[in-house]
Amino acid sequence: MSKLYIPTCIYQEENCVKKYGSEMKGLGKHAFIVTGKHSAKTNGSLADVQHVLREMGIAYTVFDEVEENPSMETCERARKAGTCAGVDFVIGIGGGSPLDAAKAIALLLANPSESTECFYQSKALGYLPVVQVPTTCGTGSEVTPYAILTIHAKRTKQSISHRIYPTLAFCDSRYLQSAPSSIIVNTAVDALCHLVESYFNTNSNCANRMYSTYGFKLWGKAKEHLLENTIDKEIGNTLMEASTYAGMAITHTGTSLPHALSYYLTYEMGIPHGKACGIFLAGYLDLCRKNMPQEGDKVLELLGITNGSAFADLMEKLIGARELSHTEISEDIRLKAVEGVMANPNKLKNCPFKITEKDLWGMF
Ligand code: NAP
Ligand code: FE
Repeated sequence: MSKLYIPTCIYQEENCVKKYGSEMKGLGKHAFIVTGKHSAKTNGSLADVQHVLREMGIAYTVFDEVEENPSMETCERARKAGTCAGVDFVIGIGGGSPLDAAKAIALLLANPSESTECFYQSKALGYLPVVQVPTTCGTGSEVTPYAILTIHAKRTKQSISHRIYPTLAFCDSRYLQSAPSSIIVNTAVDALCHLVESYFNTNSNCANRMYSTYGFKLWGKAKEHLLENTIDKEIGNTLMEASTYAGMAITHTGTSLPHALSYYLTYEMGIPHGKACGIFLAGYLDLCRKNMPQEGDKVLELLGITNGSAFADLMEKLIGARELSHTEISEDIRLKAVEGVMANPNKLKNCPFKITEKDLWGMF
């Protein structure tokens, strides 16, 4: 193994915020809670965090304006609020959008003289400590160092250049219980994309494959429940665990083609992140199986799926991948996505075999 760095202390247990929240004690006197508009207030996560902060005598300020696929502008507005309040650390609560925004905001807060342009510049910058409380089961952002922001000027999304490692992650699947099945399914498909895109990756080694292997087994166990919409407490746990392991896998390798193509669909059509990535997953797995047949068979076996067409059927049943791809994506958007990815050496280099433009068209 060349290098593996995953410094986040992860608690994955029911009521873990209340049980282990005291771990936040050393992080500062004033917390900046970064979250979305509604869900953290209804699923109990925000109340749990506020409760432990109050018990420890840590002041807090809430910024609850993070939109789906957060923008650089939102992060700048949050920086102003956090600076006024004099915060010492950041707590992200929610799906991947608030968690990613929390990281980007922690970077801005620690660098008052930098503008949001610093997001995409390669210079060494510090960041405030980040604590993460996920409430979806897909992005793994509670452990990854990535923050993906919407860049309106480029009409797409992109991971910022800086790597921001959360200090603590509190993963409690109780917060999933209020989520509609569409959010569970879409985010679970995101986690599956992370597992696959990490497993078949130029940067792959035994460590991320270990995470993916375990994640595939968990995902395989949950798949019938996703199809039948029978997500009980145990399966909620399984999905949240799979998502965190998938996050650990991509922390090491990064993602590749399904993610790269998805950003254009999300920007132009508003398709939720996991679903947008999932549209390309069966096609990508087919390419992987052609180029790396033994590994391809192993992945299907771990998932408990008999062959490639059964995998494609599963994606169709879960997110309508084939239907969406064949009927709703305009020629213009396809062209933009394919050209954008062909011009993105960072994503192309993560794919462990040579990719042509024709291959990308074939993934739709
Ligand atoms: P999200 O954009 O964070 O949230 C989607 C919707 O789900 C929002 O309306 C949100 O409501 C709602 N929601 C969240 N938790 C809920 C719950 N427990 N019950 C009911 N509703 C809930 O969704 P996401 O798919 O988790 O995150 C997608 C973002 O993560 C994208 O920007 C993507 O690029 C990024 N991502 C990051 C990484 C990484 O490594 N950092 C990896 C993959 C994806 P509220 O707005 O009211 O909260
Ligand atoms: Fe993702």
